[in-house]
Amino acid sequence: MNNNRIWLSLAHMGGHEQDFIKEAFDTNWVAPMGPNLDAFEKDLEQFLGNGVFVAGLSAGTAALHLGLILSGVKAGDEVICQSFTFSASANPIAYQGATPVFIDSERDTWNMSPEYLEQAIKDRIAKGKKPKAIIPVHLYGMPAKMDEISAIAEHYEIPVLEDSAEALGSMYKGIHCGTFGEMAVLSFNGNKIITTSGGGALVSKNEEHIKKARFLSTQARDVAPHYQHSQIGYNYRMSNIVAGIGRGQMLVLPERVEQRRKNNQFYRNHLAGIEGITFQTEPSSDFYSNYWLTSVIIDPEKTGGVTREDLRLALEKANIESRPLWKPMHLQPVFEHCPFYGDGTGESLFNDGLCLPSGSILTEGDLARVVEIIREEIDNKASM
Ligand SMILES: *Cc1c(COP(=O)(O)O)cnc(C)c1O
Repeated sequence: MNNNRIWLSLAHMGGHEQDFIKEAFDTNWVAPMGPNLDAFEKDLEQFLGNGVFVAGLSAGTAALHLGLILSGVKAGDEVICQSFTFSASANPIAYQGATPVFIDSERDTWNMSPEYLEQAIKDRIAKGKKPKAIIPVHLYGMPAKMDEISAIAEHYEIPVLEDSAEALGSMYKGIHCGTFGEMAVLSFNGNKIITTSGGGALVSKNEEHIKKARFLSTQARDVAPHYQHSQIGYNYRMSNIVAGIGRGQMLVLPERVEQRRKNNQFYRNHLAGIEGITFQTEPSSDFYSNYWLTSVIIDPEKTGGVTREDLRLALEKANIESRPLWKPMHLQPVFEHCPFYGDGTGESLFNDGLCLPSGSILTEGDLARVVEIIREEIDNKASM
């Protein structure tokens, strides 16, 4: 067996990306606007369907920030956010001078618990402040329980800003993630299911939001021959070069989803029968995950004492990258002071959870190496 480094999730080019980049150079569209950007936005609109409009931006984080601004979030406001997520879901709340109110996960999808969501909304209203927006996340590609979350959001009339950064290609009841919220964000960072090296997008069925996002992301220039500004602007637009990579990646997106799902199935087949390993799993046929990262929970009481960290270190020793699940935001020093509603589900997932190498670029030989190390580690401990 070779000992090449196996990474968690690497960029995987389709082959046509450089054609679109070359076109941009040949026509001198080397700018944060141009034909690639227009076409990439159209490609995404077509892929997602459901009548959405898309604005290409410099990052998913920038998209979240603009989404909050368009939701009217201001200093002193509160915004509800899933706790068990990457910090980029919550940071833009702080950019606005607002306070995140963190909600725990439920066990089925590992995403925002609708029960704690409703409890939090009621409690915040009772305390005198109605939250301005709700940010659920489709973690590792697994759709959140959008029916329940949307119903609560509608009942209390609070807009949903869906963090779909990890879930391009995932679906809930046959509808694409990224099309449920008042707005949604996508990310094309280097490790996501498709990448433009860095980039993101804001998605909405409301075209006004998207027009406004394009306006704000290009320094909020009023219509005038000189530079005239009546609002604070941002430099958040996607470059036409980067959008060229995106156009190339859109040609292979369905294959990338298929491959990540195949990787997930490979792990399930080859780790089946090992006590103490459970997978993040679609709770029913309503859920279709792109399985961006295959994630497992290790129960040391059933593995003969092998912990998530034992496995991570054993894999690292074999030159294989794996990673603990996201550390919940309410446990992060920077968000310590923020309200939290939950029962410790996210914390327990963090303690026992591991993301396995999941890139679409991995070979079956790579996946077999990962499985072998996991099996060895657990068999060794069990026989001690
Ligand atoms: C990657 C990611 C983001 C941020 O996207 P960037 O394009 O890296 O700014 C936001 N939320 C989640 C859950 C992510 O995984």
